[in-house]
Amino acid sequence: MIDLHSHTTESDGTLTPQELVEAAVKAGLEALAITDHDTFAGFDQAATNGAAGALELICGIELSTKFRNRSVHLLGYFLDNRPSQEFRDWIQHLQDARHRRNRELVAKLQGQGFNLTLDEVYRLGGTLPGRPHFATILVSKGYFPSIQQAFDECLSETGNCYISRDEPSFAEAVRRVNESRGFPSLPHPIRVSRDPRVLERYLREMRELGLRGIEVYHSDHSAADTELHRDLATRLGLAMTGGSDFHGAIKPQIELGTGRGGNLNIPRSVLDQLRSGIGISARD
Ligand code: AMP
Ligand code: FE
Ligand code: FE
Ligand code: ZN
Repeated sequence: MIDLHSHTTESDGTLTPQELVEAAVKAGLEALAITDHDTFAGFDQAATNGAAGALELICGIELSTKFRNRSVHLLGYFLDNRPSQEFRDWIQHLQDARHRRNRELVAKLQGQGFNLTLDEVYRLGGTLPGRPHFATILVSKGYFPSIQQAFDECLSETGNCYISRDEPSFAEAVRRVNESRGFPSLPHPIRVSRDPRVLERYLREMRELGLRGIEVYHSDHSAADTELHRDLATRLGLAMTGGSDFHGAIKPQIELGTGRGGNLNIPRSVLDQLRSGIGISARD
């Protein structure tokens, strides 16, 4: 069993990189990709700690991009575990934009009467806090009954405190992942569209831009969703990827490796096919 989608405290997960690796070993995973939002800091720490044992650790990232004017995520897998310096320099800009957004979001929330400070956000969120940290604080202060409600009413694109941030186009993000010998895959495709015909149209467009994979296995997928996306991948010639999208306590229903209520068991062959697709041998 493998898991190619997970988050640490370096983005919006609640396990430190070391704790995440330990959890993966305990869960019996053969391979784990750390795919924090817009940063390699979690992977870098996990790789340096070297406590992975038999676990194969894979360098990944989940980029926030704009596709047809909407926010769409993109996974990048660096199967040789060595993203280029140019790519690392580029994501620094994405991180700067996040910090700017965080400052503006605190000001907006304060303007609307919410009692919350930038200091609290960074104390909870660490080096790169995201909106889930804002939501957690707003819930803990009793402004909203749940994280979902904090998003719906306040923080989501349609919420009344939404602050947009500079996000690269999907086209640029895919191009940069490919140029850095990375493998680009579309995560949680059901968030892009629930209509299979619309999704297929978008996927064809994305494939033209250089997309090479689609996340067929994901905690939010029903068996029918998985079947549908497997079929799309096969017909469009896209590789299949999969992962739990584990975030720890912030999404407590999702377990590392096994997903939601045990709905995942991603075979090792998924990773082997990715590697053979780009000619990188295991543990290169
Ligand atoms: P950020 O990257 O800081 O803009 O926050 C994005 C993260 O917030 C996503 O990865 C999701 O985990 C979460 N998120 C975004 N939109 C929603 C939503 N409408 N409902 C619940 N969670 C959301
Ligand atoms: Fe997240
Ligand atoms: Fe995502
Ligand atoms: Zn994710």
